[in-house]
Amino acid sequence: MNDVASRTPSHPNAPTVETVLSVVHYTDRLFKFRITRPPSFRFRSGEFVMIGLHGGDGKPILRAYSMASPFWDEELEFFSIKAPGGPLTSRLQHIQPGDPVLLGRKPTGTLVLDALTPGRRLFLFSTGTGFAPFASLLRDPETYEKFERVVVTHTCRLTAELRYSEDIVDGLVDDPLIGEISAGKVVHYTTCTRDPHPRPGRITTRLDSGEFFKDIGEPALSPETDRAMICGSMAMIQDMKARMYACGLTEGSNAQPAEFVIEKAFAG
Ligand SMILES: Cc1cc2nc3c(=O)[nH]c(=O)nc-3n(C[C@H](O)[C@H](O)[C@H](O)COP(=O)(O)OP(=O)(O)OC[C@H]3O[C@@H](n4cnc5c(N)ncnc54)[C@H](O)[C@@H]3O)c2cc1C
Repeated sequence: MNDVASRTPSHPNAPTVETVLSVVHYTDRLFKFRITRPPSFRFRSGEFVMIGLHGGDGKPILRAYSMASPFWDEELEFFSIKAPGGPLTSRLQHIQPGDPVLLGRKPTGTLVLDALTPGRRLFLFSTGTGFAPFASLLRDPETYEKFERVVVTHTCRLTAELRYSEDIVDGLVDDPLIGEISAGKVVHYTTCTRDPHPRPGRITTRLDSGEFFKDIGEPALSPETDRAMICGSMAMIQDMKARMYACGLTEGSNAQPAEFVIEKAFAG
């Protein structure tokens, strides 16, 4: 019996034990890591799952995490906060290649293409680690089969915190699967609330002032042509929801697809 198999729990719904393949630290608050993916683990790009570590008392500490990798990737990628004093991330931030990580068996979520009705432009609005599900969707060919234009926004406090989304979007062109199909379709719009930046402030402020659409050189949101996904703090989601409704877009779900969908990037 090999090392990994010997640690695989016997209960059919228990998390599987996967192996860390790589870890990249962006700042003292953010890092990404990749783990092995069991062949039986299926998900739709944009979904989340419970992941975690064994606690000191032998009980697992599990938290919801969006898959940042697309459905077709042989490995799983996650983009993580390091929450000060957080039960999981105060330990998770120290993982190294070869370490075990627990992976739940039931991916779920509303930030999926199936939850949106057909449209021409797709807007992906995120703050902080809320970019993670969009890192998955940006690398899914179906996104470009369904939409002519994909506008992804990412707002962080510090410019260094925007690096992950910059790397993902910059990498699209060289991606053998979606390089061609995504070419010329993606607009990446970053804003920063604390560091000096060419586009300072919150995305909501820039939407309200009209600067957002002026900057990207596109017409304002319309329910006829546009679909949106929103992932961030509870406050950001509520603020964005109000603006979606003001533009005439209605909220959808897996059961009832419509013009926009939301997911909170963390509880609280
Ligand atoms: C649907 C869903 C998807 C999620 N996806 C991700 C993800 O892809 N990446 C990720 O890092 N976290 C994600 N989270 C948050 C994650 O579940 C944990 O809360 C996070 O890993 C911190 O765990 P913790 O045990 O260390 O601290 P917790 O006790 O869970 O949180 C401690 C404090 O940190 C704040 N916090 C937690 N997560 C974040 C965050 N991501 N950004 C800013 N502040 C935060 C909390 O509000 C709380 O005040 C998601 C949460 C939900 C509900």
